[in-house]
Amino acid sequence: MQLVHDKHVHTRFSNGCPQTLELVCPHCLKESSFLPKSWHEHGRQVAVAEAPCSRCEDNVLFLQLLEDSNGIHKAAELYLHPPSTARDSVHGLEHLAALSGPLGRTYESALKLYNQTEWGASALMVRHLLEGLATRLLPDDKRDLSLPRQLDALAEVDLAAPLRDIAGLLAPDGSFGREFADEAAIDQATAGQLLELTEYLIAYLVVLPGAMAELKSRIATAPVPLRRSNTG
Ligand SMILES: [Zn+2]
Repeated sequence: MQLVHDKHVHTRFSNGCPQTLELVCPHCLKESSFLPKSWHEHGRQVAVAEAPCSRCEDNVLFLQLLEDSNGIHKAAELYLHPPSTARDSVHGLEHLAALSGPLGRTYESALKLYNQTEWGASALMVRHLLEGLATRLLPDDKRDLSLPRQLDALAEVDLAAPLRDIAGLLAPDGSFGREFADEAAIDQATAGQLLELTEYLIAYLVVLPGAMAELKSRIATAPVPLRRSNTG
């Protein structure tokens, strides 16, 4: 099951169930239309319908959750099955968009091209994204370097600042440090924030370096593809 964002639903029936949808088909990975005709309600909590993809004609199952709010029966979350094999966007994309709107859109374009199986165009867009990211993060005098040298220079950017910010929180007089003096008084909100903070630290210090080292070793051991000849 995969959650379908509201923006993909163009029109709805009077009972709130989708009538026309435009989304990337989970079978052919192309932007397609779906027109579910008959929705079957089960109890008052869910409605299901099938619709063929306008391009590949394979069927997709839609599952519409329904909710009663103040006596009004209306549509809530919509799911589809099978889930798409398309790549999903990175978690926290809003931070990239906040750093730079154009860079956020470049990333979305790269992802969209990838999901449309436009490998070359996607790779060029990724290169564009890396250049944009380096330019955005580097000081003025490093912005004209080549991409590999820009990435080298990124190591000089202060990546330790988030750690210094956190250290202060855990000091005896910091927000979390004070809480530890009386363990019984720690509430759900504080415990949750401490857990969240620690999860970011694990992601930053352990998961990210580990995942990048693993990717690098996969790149290093991948067989070198044969160059496509001009005639083939
Ligand atoms: Zn399709």
